[in-house]
Amino acid sequence: MILPPATLGMLGGGQLGRFFVAAAHEMGFKVWVLDPDPHSPAGLIADHHLVAAFEDFAALDVLAEACSAVTTEFENVPAATLEYLSKFIPVHPSAQAVAVCQDRIREKSFLSDNGIPHGPFAVIRADEDVRGADETLFPAILKIARFGYDGKGQARVATREEALHAFHAFHREACVLEKMLPLDSEVSVVLARDEAGTVRCFPTAENRHRNGILDVTIAPARVDVALADEAQRIAATVAERLGYIGTLGVEFFVTDGRLVVNEMAPRPHNSGHHTIDACVTSQYDQQVRVLAGLPLDEPRQHSCAVMVNLLGDLWYEGDRHREPDWTVLHREQGLRLHLYGKHHARRGRKMGHFTVIGTDADDVFERAMRARAAIGI
Ligand code: ADP
Ligand code: MG
Repeated sequence: MILPPATLGMLGGGQLGRFFVAAAHEMGFKVWVLDPDPHSPAGLIADHHLVAAFEDFAALDVLAEACSAVTTEFENVPAATLEYLSKFIPVHPSAQAVAVCQDRIREKSFLSDNGIPHGPFAVIRADEDVRGADETLFPAILKIARFGYDGKGQARVATREEALHAFHAFHREACVLEKMLPLDSEVSVVLARDEAGTVRCFPTAENRHRNGILDVTIAPARVDVALADEAQRIAATVAERLGYIGTLGVEFFVTDGRLVVNEMAPRPHNSGHHTIDACVTSQYDQQVRVLAGLPLDEPRQHSCAVMVNLLGDLWYEGDRHREPDWTVLHREQGLRLHLYGKHHARRGRKMGHFTVIGTDADDVFERAMRARAAIGI
């Protein structure tokens, strides 16, 4: 076990890393963050911020020297970076697990090889692959295999012709072509798995997206109990088959009353933010615990929760930049506002979120929607 006042390392300085730093600090650890952005949200509150590229091996040496173990909050951290660090200190999740999650082709192959339910897809590496794709895939969605997020690097395509155009617009980068599925809903499971293989799942959450970006999470999900349980079982299987150690997010589509895995995130997940305010332990606490080799805590949810993402758009009135009026949110009882301290509000950028908690699911939902309308979303 790694115990305070030991130092933990975090690759990536975004909001997920920032919540990890806060959780680690609460438990008495120190945290070093590595991120190239000098204004990164996690870097700002870390004990030390190494402002360097993820491929900067001299910086990685410094990190390995300072830290007892390292984790990540960013799925696009180069696998070679994790591999390199693991020669010196424990690194969780492993380079191999992250490599699967950061490449949609490897991710889909992993699901199919392990008999885990997923939607129909084709791998696209060349024009011929588009031409040869099964007709039943259309209408479809073309996604670049690497470095897409928040709906970026995705194109909805009704026909083969459109798919070809989109593939060219993506400069013929490797892609997956997925059948556009009719969605009953979207759910996700965040879990933690430790070195001994113990898995603790947070209750299945329900997610609503806007323009390909998570908008609202409702937890627990308002779905059939059997379906919510099944999602947890599938997510646990994903973690086991990946040999995953750490906090993992698994996104699902519910289509025709059936669960299919959409994608995995080798890190805490946006749809697990509410665990900070609504659960006995948060997804970030669990991430710290796994990394330090401490026993996993109880992921039990003590309150109903609705989480609403706050995007950079809220900072604009027409073209004018202004700070939103936070007083309208602070007036709402049982609402916890979390702002990430990002330097610059860009449209579509995740700047903060709020979580409304309470004992009655309908009441929590209503209050969250009222707060959302009051702030102008
Ligand atoms: P990201 O990495 O940006 O989260 P996703 O693959 O999860 O990318 O896609 C973002 C959102 O777009 C999904 O949560 C879902 O709402 C919608 N979407 C993606 N793929 C499909 C699909 N095959 N069928 C229907 N909706 C989809
Ligand atoms: Mg997603």
